[in-house]
Amino acid sequence: MNPAYSRVRSGVLYEEAKQYFPGGVNSPVRAFRSVTGPPVFIKKGNGSRLWDEDDNEYIDFCASWGPLILGHNNAAILERVMEAAANGLSFGAPTQWGNHLGKLLLDNNRYIEKMRFVSSGTEAVMSAIRLARGATGRSKVIKFEGCYHGHLDSLLVKAGSGLVTFGVSTSAGIPEAFAKETLVLPLNDRGLLEKTLAEQGHDVACIIIEPVPANNGLLLQDRAFLEFLRLKCTEYGALLIFDEVISGFRVGFEGAAGHYGIQPDILTYGKIIGGGMPVGAYGASHELMRNIAPDGPVYQAGTLSANPVAMAAGLAALEQLLVPGFYEALERKTQYFVQAVQNHCNAKGYEVSIPQIASIFWIAFSRERIITADQIDPKSMEKFKVLHLELLKRGIYFGPSGYEVGFVSAAHSEADLEVAAEKVNEAMDVVFD
Ligand SMILES: *Cc1c(COP(=O)(O)O)cnc(C)c1O
Repeated sequence: MNPAYSRVRSGVLYEEAKQYFPGGVNSPVRAFRSVTGPPVFIKKGNGSRLWDEDDNEYIDFCASWGPLILGHNNAAILERVMEAAANGLSFGAPTQWGNHLGKLLLDNNRYIEKMRFVSSGTEAVMSAIRLARGATGRSKVIKFEGCYHGHLDSLLVKAGSGLVTFGVSTSAGIPEAFAKETLVLPLNDRGLLEKTLAEQGHDVACIIIEPVPANNGLLLQDRAFLEFLRLKCTEYGALLIFDEVISGFRVGFEGAAGHYGIQPDILTYGKIIGGGMPVGAYGASHELMRNIAPDGPVYQAGTLSANPVAMAAGLAALEQLLVPGFYEALERKTQYFVQAVQNHCNAKGYEVSIPQIASIFWIAFSRERIITADQIDPKSMEKFKVLHLELLKRGIYFGPSGYEVGFVSAAHSEADLEVAAEKVNEAMDVVFD
């Protein structure tokens, strides 16, 4: 698709960007540190396609890291955004747009009764944790290794090797006292969770999990483990938080809560909810949400929260997701694509498996079923690095890390996916050559 593949112009822009931004980027995952070449500077997107500053064309599976379930430049979203923007971008006062999106969401989600809009996934999680602490009067948080919850201090913490130690921060700049409030456990280990709760359960405000862990490979959990978390939270009076910033509106309109039929205490959303604009949200029961200011003592605010343009984009996006059959059609397309690549790899004897749920997939260079972070072999990332470059040359855009999942959007046609599978298979042949 890109015969004389070159990233000269991207390279020039990257050199310039390095003068302004640390690492030349405004979010570290964009920096292409674990793959080859300068970051691809994007000029425009339309439907399933992206074009970069060197005029290379790609079929996109990164989807802005998840939000673009309708593809790029969706006509209905654009129209609504223009309509809202024509009357001003922000007022710091309520508008009807927030009501419209709030109503649509609450009318179609059985797992929350009341919600608050914020401007990012990180903000949603940060607020949810504060709510959990405020409502329980406890301070400790249990999280799982391999789950990402945004860049708030208390959750940038990862466990030592297998033991339940006090959290060791994976970022500089986080006081030890904060890290100590976070207990990190491996996924899918009931025994260790049980033991931790027996010892410290009375101090635990909440257990937070990505019910579909999709930030460190795709570590699909058994429903039984999520049910176990629900049970234990109830037993110890801790709150269960489902961080649905990726899974919300992705594995179904009601996200993973709906998919697994499990009622968490607090849910967080981001990414898809804003239709490509910066929106996040958290929600819970009426009773829990009464703790939030101005009704209650847990403070949480935002200058640009629920600004009309972002609300209009979210509204136009979510309306399209409610069309009957939307998720079924998307999953069918995703399965077709994944199966086409898996079949090729199986036929050639390549060590590849592609876990998939709804329109999320992940290419694992292993035949094992991977459900915990420590099962991922860091050496397999060398294979991803080769794959990534071969895919760019062939006009396929994946997120620039082998730990990232891919997303199929409604804008991917069957023909797109047929071409993409063919290109991925060619690239796999180079990887395993
Ligand atoms: C992306 C993500 C976040 C952070 O959202 P931002 O909008 O990047 O702040 C939090 N939790 C999960 C599960 C995510 O995937």
